[in-house]
Amino acid sequence: MHKYWGLALGLAFLVSCKDQKQAGDELSEVVTIKKPVETRQFGFLMNDFEVVQDTIRDGDSFGAIMLRNKIDYPKIAMIAETYKDTFDVRRIVKGKPYVILKSKDSTNATEVFIYQSDPINYTVIDFRGDVVAYNKKQKVKYVTREASGVINSSLSEAILQQGIDYNITNSLSEIYAWSIDFFRLQKGDKFKVIYKEKYINDTIYAGAGSIEAAYFEHNGEPFYAFNYVTDSVRNIREYYDHEAKNLRRAFLRSPVQFSRISSRYNLNRRIAFYGNKVRPHKGTDYAAPIGTPILATANGTVEESTRRGGNGKYVKIKHNGTYSTQYLHMKAQNVKKGQYVKQGDVIGWIGMTGNTSGPHVCYRFWKNGRQVDPLREKLPTADPIADSLKKQYLAHIAPFKNQLDCIEYIEEPSEELLTLNE
Ligand SMILES: [Zn+2]
Repeated sequence: MHKYWGLALGLAFLVSCKDQKQAGDELSEVVTIKKPVETRQFGFLMNDFEVVQDTIRDGDSFGAIMLRNKIDYPKIAMIAETYKDTFDVRRIVKGKPYVILKSKDSTNATEVFIYQSDPINYTVIDFRGDVVAYNKKQKVKYVTREASGVINSSLSEAILQQGIDYNITNSLSEIYAWSIDFFRLQKGDKFKVIYKEKYINDTIYAGAGSIEAAYFEHNGEPFYAFNYVTDSVRNIREYYDHEAKNLRRAFLRSPVQFSRISSRYNLNRRIAFYGNKVRPHKGTDYAAPIGTPILATANGTVEESTRRGGNGKYVKIKHNGTYSTQYLHMKAQNVKKGQYVKQGDVIGWIGMTGNTSGPHVCYRFWKNGRQVDPLREKLPTADPIADSLKKQYLAHIAPFKNQLDCIEYIEEPSEELLTLNE
């Protein structure tokens, strides 16, 4: 009976995704890559020349390469001088590819030199007639790609298994830095992503572009992310969710990167040292080696930077009328009272001052003058999308959200499925 329902639901889902695919064809411009028929490269028809391809070798200089190819010394000196702003001949780098185009006739003269400083940028020196040199960029084609995965051990492994560009791992962890702790992912967490890949001449892969849209399911909780330009003049892009909420939070999840929580906020904590009496712990302890930077979790003004009793050296920051944060047991502070700090600024370093048994920062979170557990608080988001843009934004993301919802997870067939097929 249950299986029957599952099948019915599955079919309904397929139909809606089929519709989406048809509509999406015009929108997403998924391009099939074909080898070009004509061999035009760098703006030249390769068939017209004898083509020499090589890379800059150890000890090579521009002059030496040119002399080897029968370009005389005065011409080399002239290029070095006249075109030094276009092409600094001293800057050629070992290992970079270059192409020499020679005439197919009996003179076999060097006609064009092309130096590729990276997969996209190149310099052309054209020796035919009066020598000219210029810089150009390869035409880059962006191809939209979809990917998905279920996490068994780590995100990076799941990404590698699917043959997805490794940079996507970094991009995802940046997009979700405020909402998901990527060091504490759960087995079974899932992701879907729509991103761009760059191709030169339709064939040469030149890296992953930005993530257009992503979906992450952590502990069964869904997190959508859509890339949106909120300020086209300054090219400011942000990621917002399906309800136009900013993915960034007003507060970082933790004041220390790459740390572990050694003790959580706990009002009923009992400590053997104090005869098992209740000693509430109103902070969250992050253990890290002495000297590890401690970051301001949000913008604000330093209210206190001092040393007092069991707290040791500490900093307290007032963020607004509602929130303040406090960071205890520092080795040293990096800020003074009255100073304005920004989210992520280093305000001090992990130490052991005051009452502590090991190096950690005790992070205390104040809301309306009372200490609360930041890990349980629904913290305010960073600047939401402007009201004037919200309608436009929701219209923009609708096709991306459909596309995301229709991506199927790629995973190995489970044992359950295998026995079902027998
Ligand atoms: Zn503590």
